Amino acid sequence: MTTYWCELAWLGGERPESAVLVEVEDGAIVAVGAGQDSPPRDVRILEGLTLPGLVNAHSHAFQRALRGRTQRASGSFWTWRKQMYRVADRIDPESYLALARATYAEMALAGVTTVGEFHYLHHGAGGARYGDPNEMGRVLLAAAAEAGVRITLLDCCYLHGGIETPLDDTQRRFADAGAEAWVERVSDLDENESARIGAAIHSMRAVDPEAAATVADWARERERPLHAHVSEQPAENEACLEAYGRTPAKLLAEAGALAANFTAVHATHLDGEDVTLLGGAGACCCVCPTTERDLADGIGRMRRLTDAGASLSLGSDSHAVIDMFEEARAVEFDERLASGERVHHGAAALLRAVSADGQACLGWPDAGRIAPGSRADLVTVSLDGVRLAGWETEFALDAVVFAAGAADVRSVVVDGEEIVRDGQHTRINVPDALHEAIRRVVT
Ligand SMILES: [Zn+2]
Repeated sequence: MTTYWCELAWLGGERPESAVLVEVEDGAIVAVGAGQDSPPRDVRILEGLTLPGLVNAHSHAFQRALRGRTQRASGSFWTWRKQMYRVADRIDPESYLALARATYAEMALAGVTTVGEFHYLHHGAGGARYGDPNEMGRVLLAAAAEAGVRITLLDCCYLHGGIETPLDDTQRRFADAGAEAWVERVSDLDENESARIGAAIHSMRAVDPEAAATVADWARERERPLHAHVSEQPAENEACLEAYGRTPAKLLAEAGALAANFTAVHATHLDGEDVTLLGGAGACCCVCPTTERDLADGIGRMRRLTDAGASLSLGSDSHAVIDMFEEARAVEFDERLASGERVHHGAAALLRAVSADGQACLGWPDAGRIAPGSRADLVTVSLDGVRLAGWETEFALDAVVFAAGAADVRSVVVDGEEIVRDGQHTRINVPDALHEAIRRVVT
């Protein structure tokens, strides 16, 4: 049994509690209670604000290598995609293990205890199968285990280069022969206490409606999470409307995908009916604001989705930055820019998106709360650094969500194990690991 004394802890309300004792046994929280103002002896002291573990619900780990290298070429998402494909072309299982391990370790430093890896870089050059067709997926599972974070591997069905468009050379690395081949491959991946296997439909550009239904059936029958990129770009909507007379969200609804286990990633360019469909299904929408602004995708207005019944989660997607506080406040700030009005999503609602609701959309409903019975994920943010000095308890949640950065995270506990202490990863020299891994795939 380990007892933590938290100077402040967020237990789910609109403001944090002071002097909270959290008892942890076998990786789970067994008791949460009011402590005394000064910590008792023999406890682990967490100074600052302690939050449940943060969730990065949408990651493409290899894209971390692009950071800082795509800011000169003008154009659109589609120009950026060419640069992204050049990096994808260079990655093999060995270099991917190093890159994903370092990227997940960077996430741990930012307070992420669970990552959703939207995995489509499956095969070798030109689409050649590895001896184990799931080699790349297993590399990602190993990388997360080494970095100390839980993972949901959202294995992605990817079949076409676009609607009625053949695969190009890079895309052959992503693709299975068909939805049944995807089922056969993915069904061979095993789950464990720290790893779940979920399903993903890359997009309604890359997966035809019939195949999307096969993937949705697989996820529903096994009660697994199902994610899909939905309406990230206007061109995706236009292609679907031209080919099928329906938006991507409507196609997914007809494929039987929209349900409580479904997460629409981006959900940027939706019409009113799409919003009603996603909200009515109780689906989750995973917003990735730092990537969406980097790629000039547009602004997704999330309040109408939560009003309709959807939940929210957050992802750093291309890893232009890895900072879940930056993602969270961007949901609110982008909506302010688009609406000319302030305060659509408060700090507590944004924290729920990046904790309990994010965990749920990745298939971990037993995580994301500082409460008895929950997995013992504790993330402590220093309040005494230059960004937050001058804080007071009443406004500590707002201060953290609207002004903290990943560098303010001092301690991270995942399933009862401390993986970040005093702002350092306990196992990995993260800057060195990133430097070495990235140099291997970009030079
Ligand atoms: Zn994505």
